[in-house]
Amino acid sequence: MFENEDLIALRDTTRRFAREKIAPGYAAREKSGILDRGLLKEMGAMGLIAPELPDWAGGSGVETMYSGVIIEEIAKADFNMGYAQILGSLEGQIVAGFARREVAEEWLPKLTAGEVIINIALTEPQGGSDAAALKLKMTRDGDDWVLNGEKTSISMADQSDATVVFARSGDEKRGASGVSALLVPMNLPGIKTTRFEDLGQHCIGRGSIFFDNVRVPRNMLLGDEGQAFRQVMQGFDFSRALIGLQCLGTARQSLDETWVFVKEREAFGQPLSAFQGVSHRLAEFDTKVEAARLLCLQALWLKDQGRPHTTEAAMSKWWPPLLAYETIHACLLMHGHSGYSRDLPFEQRLRDVLGLQIGDGTSQIMKTVIARSRVGREFVPY
Ligand SMILES: Cc1cc2nc3c(=O)[nH]c(=O)nc-3n(C[C@H](O)[C@H](O)[C@H](O)COP(=O)(O)OP(=O)(O)OC[C@H]3O[C@@H](n4cnc5c(N)ncnc54)[C@H](O)[C@@H]3O)c2cc1C
Repeated sequence: MFENEDLIALRDTTRRFAREKIAPGYAAREKSGILDRGLLKEMGAMGLIAPELPDWAGGSGVETMYSGVIIEEIAKADFNMGYAQILGSLEGQIVAGFARREVAEEWLPKLTAGEVIINIALTEPQGGSDAAALKLKMTRDGDDWVLNGEKTSISMADQSDATVVFARSGDEKRGASGVSALLVPMNLPGIKTTRFEDLGQHCIGRGSIFFDNVRVPRNMLLGDEGQAFRQVMQGFDFSRALIGLQCLGTARQSLDETWVFVKEREAFGQPLSAFQGVSHRLAEFDTKVEAARLLCLQALWLKDQGRPHTTEAAMSKWWPPLLAYETIHACLLMHGHSGYSRDLPFEQRLRDVLGLQIGDGTSQIMKTVIARSRVGREFVPY
């Protein structure tokens, strides 16, 4: 469903590349703790990063559904390589839509080529869910903006080339009004990063970014001053649908491998699949994964039609990450003792997908978004 001949061809090419080039290094990249820039460039050369961007930005101007197909296939091979692709689409859309043209022309062709990584820096130490309470200070001094403060929990903080930073340029102490966004090269003087010891996503890494009197040229402002929440943050609907597909891609791969296993492995003189406690459980997860996938594709389809999709995107962000976690958990258990070992990929997948029940907005916040769309903000104030 939703797929024409071009999308089917793209899926086949991406799947072949992902199986041959990406899947074999999934565990090794976890040990190295860094994203493979060579692989990223190969993905870029194949047009697999942000193909929805226009030609001048290095994209192909196709529908966002193309990125949906790509992320599913990449995440089947390596959940984390999909992360780089999501950042490409999210930041690509923000920079293409809101950066000054000369800035976008400098950064986007490198982003789509896989030569640079741009992270997104919204969360602060006092809390991420109440994003409008952010405090990072941004003041004008001559031709520069000067940044002071800390962003925390930022994916790829210490291996990015630039960051999209949300900061308070107005006098208000809190609230969406007065929040601006800047594209900030990570090599500017005054920037320091740290890395956390996380449960999963080791080759992505998460950490803080400290800004100590960092001078950012004026033309790096994204959108209008004080309008970042209204303008720039709309891109999150797109990344939420992609995150859903990323998690489900990893879940689908786990299911496919487990169907093969239960057909081959025997207990009590029967293949495991003969026991309905096994095959019906797998059939249930298979059904839910397919249903959740269609939900995410619908969000992308609505976006491509220029129709509202915030509700569907929020649904795609809370259910699929949870469902993927539960699916992979069941697949691990069905592999018995071997599923618990690092020789098989299930334990790594389980740790990797877990983070996205929190990252990019928690399940609770997504449900608030959905509830507000049904009954209005005044009836769901928090
Ligand atoms: C793997 C991962 C990657 C991340 N990557 C990035 C990134 O690249 N950039 C970035 O800016 N941030 C990133 N984050 C941070 C993430 O966006 C925040 O962790 C998230 O928004 C929640 O904020 P918090 O952790 O401060 O929790 P808090 O806001 O302190 O919330 C704590 C708990 O309370 C619940 N809660 C809060 N308010 C409500 C409410 N109104 N109703 C019901 N429950 C509520 C939350 O759901 C949560 O369970 C990442 C996080 C993770 C885990």
